[in-house]
Amino acid sequence: MTFAHGRSVVAIPGPSPVPDSVLRVMHRPSPDIYGPEMVEALMRMVDRLMRLSFGAARLSTYIGNGHAAWEAANTNLFSRGQKALVLATGHFGRGWAQSAAELGIVVEVMDFGSRAAVDPERLAARLAADPDGAIHAVLLTQVDTATGVRNDIEAVGRAMRGHKALLAVDAIASLGCEPMRMADWGVDVLVGASQKGLMTPPGIALVWQSQRAIALPRSDLATPYWNWASRSGPEAWRYWGGTPPVQLIHGCDEALRILFEDEGLDAAFARHEGLAEAVWAAVEAWGAGGTGIALNVADPAARARSVTAVHLPGATRLREWCAGKAGVTLGIGLGMEAPDDALRIAHMGHTSAHMVLGTLAVMEAGMRALGIAHGPGALDAAAAVIARRA
Ligand SMILES: *Cc1c(COP(=O)(O)O)cnc(C)c1O
Repeated sequence: MTFAHGRSVVAIPGPSPVPDSVLRVMHRPSPDIYGPEMVEALMRMVDRLMRLSFGAARLSTYIGNGHAAWEAANTNLFSRGQKALVLATGHFGRGWAQSAAELGIVVEVMDFGSRAAVDPERLAARLAADPDGAIHAVLLTQVDTATGVRNDIEAVGRAMRGHKALLAVDAIASLGCEPMRMADWGVDVLVGASQKGLMTPPGIALVWQSQRAIALPRSDLATPYWNWASRSGPEAWRYWGGTPPVQLIHGCDEALRILFEDEGLDAAFARHEGLAEAVWAAVEAWGAGGTGIALNVADPAARARSVTAVHLPGATRLREWCAGKAGVTLGIGLGMEAPDDALRIAHMGHTSAHMVLGTLAVMEAGMRALGIAHGPGALDAAAAVIARRA
């Protein structure tokens, strides 16, 4: 038999759960575009997205996913033959590097593995060995969604002082889940997408720019559609280079209203941290006694607040059990050395203690059913975190 009835839980790291009110505002016929209602929603959305960046000078928007946002950033930031230094901490950092290389950008990858954050001292040493400034920009993820590694963007920005390279950050899996401070941290290009911490269906790609990025000469890679200078206001029609994604704009506007007004940014960040800690506590308990279950990232400071990657012998069988028997879908072990023995638990965006504790309890039931060895007390430990932090 199966218990997979009622509302299912999709705990994959994107697309993330969409609030009912976001779905409701999207349920509308297409209007006469650029009528007052749409323009109002768009301008409110842009205004809140600008606030979310803490210091961007401009936001350019595209109909697209995260890969589209990468390409938008790449093609405007670099001209053909210019050099990118990519600081990789997992599948997504390497993916961004590849998307740049395929465009004819010269890419150097500093790979920090998949279990630790970027070491700012190694970056500083590399930049010190580039006195002529051949490195045009440094690229990295704030959170690598595959490994669950979180990078300290402030420390990276500090390590770059004294070198003229621009700093570009992929915050697709962290915006809305933890702080981003473009101006204070020296970020020049920030990349985001609608479907993770921003609680909106996939389809809006976002690229914020600093004054320095805006001042770059037009790149020979920037085609008319992707040119970021033409994809920003002040007039509403400039944002989309054609028909706006009307329903998505209303959805994103509502999601940002929830984030800023119903909950508040700081509260949302604290919630993500609490949910993450509950997951970490459970995984650590399961790992007691040499079961082989372990968090991918040992250092808590280097762990994402939005998604947790876990090594768990039999993970693929467990994921199948959780989905089939209990209606809980977990993320695959993306880019891991032993993908069948790894999984990811997302706790990003519209996610509650109820959902996370339920997900952990279902995982424990599955481990019992499948005979996967696990230490005791995991649910207790997770509940204790929520009790302490609430
Ligand atoms: C999801 C994700 C991407 C890719 O986004 P798509 O919408 O799948 O193209 C890129 N970077 C990070 C950090 C992500 O989490």
